[in-house]
Amino acid sequence: MSRKKIVAGNWKMNTSLNEAIYLVQQISKNKNTNSEVLKIVFPPFPFITEVAKTINNSANFYTGAQNCSEFLNGAYTGEVSALMLQSVNCNYVLVGHSERRQYFNETNQQLVLKIKNALQHSINVIFCFGEKLEERKGTTHFTTVEKQLNQVLSHFTETDLHNITLAYEPIWAIGTGETASPQQAQDMHAFVRKTIANLFSTKAANNISILYGGSCNAQNAKQLFACADVDGGLIGGASLKADDFCTIINSF
Ligand code: PEP
Repeated sequence: MSRKKIVAGNWKMNTSLNEAIYLVQQISKNKNTNSEVLKIVFPPFPFITEVAKTINNSANFYTGAQNCSEFLNGAYTGEVSALMLQSVNCNYVLVGHSERRQYFNETNQQLVLKIKNALQHSINVIFCFGEKLEERKGTTHFTTVEKQLNQVLSHFTETDLHNITLAYEPIWAIGTGETASPQQAQDMHAFVRKTIANLFSTKAANNISILYGGSCNAQNAKQLFACADVDGGLIGGASLKADDFCTIINSF
């Protein structure tokens, strides 16, 4: 089993350039208690270059983008391509975050194109998915997640999967302060692994990292990361405070 432990910070539309650099300098100072844990930060687009330079060669520390275009290049005002991200040493990209799906109406078809472009430019993907509150209450959360995975990942090969990390993010837990319980997270992560085994193979399922996202913080990370199928976290709010983010990194 070669799956990685990852703690990723999605800064969303927050920080100025100076704040971004300060944050990443503080995180760099953290001595990981587990040196195998990968740290990734996702600053806003304009700060990626400087953040990547600041991180420089810090061990197991990478820069990501919060989005990339489904188009390769051309007359798409305001868009940022995978090639542009590659050219500024951006190693990861988030695809399918619920805020992109909800506020920018991103469809599964677009997500497939975004992932294809990222992989083509050697950028690793963190693919996000998760159910709405009414789906959780109506106990259709497993079918919702299965559909999200099937409709997107069926367009990729088992080799592509080496550069894809999954992030289960129940929408009702994102930015709400409400977290999935360790049992709820473990049940869904085990189900996601089973879905990957059905789509690809048991080997692929055992090798893929599955992160939990949704109000994961310095207080609850240890319990969540202790779950057998939780390989780390995608952190929103708590990733903006260096001390909290470092405590989460040290929660394995
Ligand atoms: C997110 O947006 O990916 C997220 C998990 O946010 P928060 O940690 O703030 O719930």
